[in-house]
Amino acid sequence: MNYIDFKSPTQLDEARTLLKELGESAMPVAGSTLHVFLRDESPKVAVDIARLGLSGIRLVDGIFHIGATTTVTALHEHDQPGWVLDRVASEFVTQPIRNMATIGGSSVRVFPWSDLPVALLALNAAMVITGDEERTLDAETFFASQPFHHFALGDLLTSVRVPALTAGQGFAYLKDRRTSTDFSRCTVAAWLSLEDGKIAGVRVAVGAAVPMPCRMPDVEQALMGARPGPKKFEEAVQAGLDTARWKGLHGISDEYARHLASILIVDVLNRAHQEAKGE
Ligand SMILES: Cc1cc2nc3c(=O)[nH]c(=O)nc-3n(C[C@H](O)[C@H](O)[C@H](O)COP(=O)(O)OP(=O)(O)OC[C@H]3O[C@@H](n4cnc5c(N)ncnc54)[C@H](O)[C@@H]3O)c2cc1C
Repeated sequence: MNYIDFKSPTQLDEARTLLKELGESAMPVAGSTLHVFLRDESPKVAVDIARLGLSGIRLVDGIFHIGATTTVTALHEHDQPGWVLDRVASEFVTQPIRNMATIGGSSVRVFPWSDLPVALLALNAAMVITGDEERTLDAETFFASQPFHHFALGDLLTSVRVPALTAGQGFAYLKDRRTSTDFSRCTVAAWLSLEDGKIAGVRVAVGAAVPMPCRMPDVEQALMGARPGPKKFEEAVQAGLDTARWKGLHGISDEYARHLASILIVDVLNRAHQEAKGE
């Protein structure tokens, strides 16, 4: 990136006005950790959005409201019943990056290996965009294509809403990488809800081994209403695996990416099931 100026507004309206006035030459900046990957060399004015009062985590009627500039470290350190994003944050590369990277920056520009979108898809998060009017997109719509395409000039992601886990529900998140600081080769997350010993709700999401993080609808469909268990999970994963377009990253073949995903998805489903049973 080629920054030629830096603006530091302290009010959301002020930031939005600046972004609109500066137009294509402006770039919102939160933790600024992703900028090393952006190839745009045109002169840009950085508009810092970290001082707009958009960080923090509040539980409101069973939903966690997470401000867009909440850092990954804050996600990691938060501790409240029903909170699960600490499990994802702990897998997020190194502590210095976690201290700067925000949930908003991680969600607006997505790479195949991005951690948080996979978890947000499995958790059925709601993404709140503040423009001239506020609008909320469900995670599946938000992540269906590169999310910044949803944004008009001056729009900002202001909040991410994640339902708290309740009794009878489980969540698990796993990623495979060659070293602890490497990018993921396959990331998976599962959310599962039990009623009378059967699966009443399930969401499975995958990243890194596919071009963009996505859900696995055929796996989910094969599990709805079923009695959960390792064998059932394996059958459902085999039945639903081919709806995704597998793409090996970091030197692994597409076939190996598919195989890796098949193992990890069964693993997260088993873990989510254990938690839903209260174990
Ligand atoms: C060495 C290294 C390793 C990394 N490893 C990982 C990893 O393991 N997993 C992973 O997921 N990521 C990883 N990343 C990527 C990066 O840290 C994340 O994507 C990061 O979370 C981006 O957040 P940020 O706050 O730094 O965003 P920024 O860099 O500030 O912004 C990213 C983009 O989003 C836009 N933006 C930011 N916030 C908003 C908002 N609220 N509204 C609208 N637009 C907004 C910006 O304009 C910019 O285009 C790594 C990065 C580095 C440098």
